[in-house]
Amino acid sequence: MEETDDWAVADLETALDVAEVSRDAGELAEVEAALVRVADGTYGTCVECGEPIPHARLAASPSAARCIACQERLEAGARRGPPTL
Ligand SMILES: [Zn+2]
Repeated sequence: MEETDDWAVADLETALDVAEVSRDAGELAEVEAALVRVADGTYGTCVECGEPIPHARLAASPSAARCIACQERLEAGARRGPPTL
């Protein structure tokens, strides 16, 4: 799926530029982590459950590391208490 990779890298590079301009360190780290996943071939796969992340989600959030279900579960947990990391 090289077309998908090219598309992902182009979107991520755009996101990286935006993050750099806005000096948003958190967003920058997310985008850089996503580029690492592109390089090792795991980009577009949820880091929690290993399922493919829908393209619509990646289009809206190119640096997304989790599918919608896992992201929502993470955010629900964050609201309940401190992160366990
Ligand atoms: Zn998931």
